[in-house]
Amino acid sequence: MDFICPNCKSENIQRLSAVFHHGYADINATGTGVGYGVNSGAVVSTTQINGSSQTIAAQRAAPPYKKKWYDSVVKYTFWYLVCMFITYLMFITSKDDITSPLCRGFTIVWIVMSIVKIVTSIRYNRNKYPPLIDSWNNSYLCYRCNDIFELRP
Ligand SMILES: [Zn+2]
Repeated sequence: MDFICPNCKSENIQRLSAVFHHGYADINATGTGVGYGVNSGAVVSTTQINGSSQTIAAQRAAPPYKKKWYDSVVKYTFWYLVCMFITYLMFITSKDDITSPLCRGFTIVWIVMSIVKIVTSIRYNRNKYPPLIDSWNNSYLCYRCNDIFELRP
């Protein structure tokens, strides 16, 4: 098969993973900082500083990510504890606060949200993520028409 862009027939194409890693190498070389999380907001601000097409290309070439349910669960747990603590401070008068409807409500919301997050994340990582990363591994960027397409040998 020919390694050309199906849209404009250009041979000036590059594998997305190479575009992505090259773009990140450039970010570090410009000295705007090392150790950016690949899916963090820091990348956006770097683009504003650099404004280079390389970085924008790298952003477009970013791979799909697995869902990290534990990040969300840690966040939910934090807010759950904050809510419980505030509730405790406000209704410190009686001893059966912990079974008050408000605390029970927080506990139910916390458990339900955590379970939903874990289940949907595991499902996504198991069913949706593999074809996405496979597609990404076989995708190319055309430097002439800027199209992103899949090529499979
Ligand atoms: Zn093209």
